[in-house]
Amino acid sequence: MNNKYSKCSNCPANHLLDDKRKALIERWESKRDSYLSRTKKIKLILLGESMPASRYFYDLETDYPESGLRYSLKREFGKLDLSDSQFLISMSRKGIVLLDCALCPLHQLYDNVTKRHAATYCFLTITHETISKFPDTPIVTVFPSNRGWLKSEIPFEIRYNVKGECTFSDQSGLSDFYKELITKKL
Ligand SMILES: [Zn+2]
Repeated sequence: MNNKYSKCSNCPANHLLDDKRKALIERWESKRDSYLSRTKKIKLILLGESMPASRYFYDLETDYPESGLRYSLKREFGKLDLSDSQFLISMSRKGIVLLDCALCPLHQLYDNVTKRHAATYCFLTITHETISKFPDTPIVTVFPSNRGWLKSEIPFEIRYNVKGECTFSDQSGLSDFYKELITKKL
């Protein structure tokens, strides 16, 4: 899958993509993709900035004790009583999946402007293709505040599907939004 990374050769974060990180990305993507394939119909895409430094939503071997996205989504959906593994299955049953704009390790970049350029570049060269497979699926962004893609550079058909914006630390209202979404569509 080296081809995937070569698409990002002009990304401002590409030089940070070493073999160790690539191996981690492969592992995390395969965990994510197994949840994606178990999801019968994808009803909502949560879009993050990039896979984090050392823990990942879909990797149960990485811990989210009482912080981070897996924990805060669990709280938002009222599922704190579930184990992490049960929670990921419940998200998959709901049709909610998490994708990221970037494969490159954006957490290693220093300034937000460069991070935004990298998130935009990575999204357009790599993740755009995945998201395009779900053309009418609503997207809610979960970017860290003042970060994420540069909206003006994102194709209209993707921007049009963005129905909400949360932050990485606070997804209040997402559960209500999801309920509205499925009642309208069912
Ligand atoms: Zn990149």
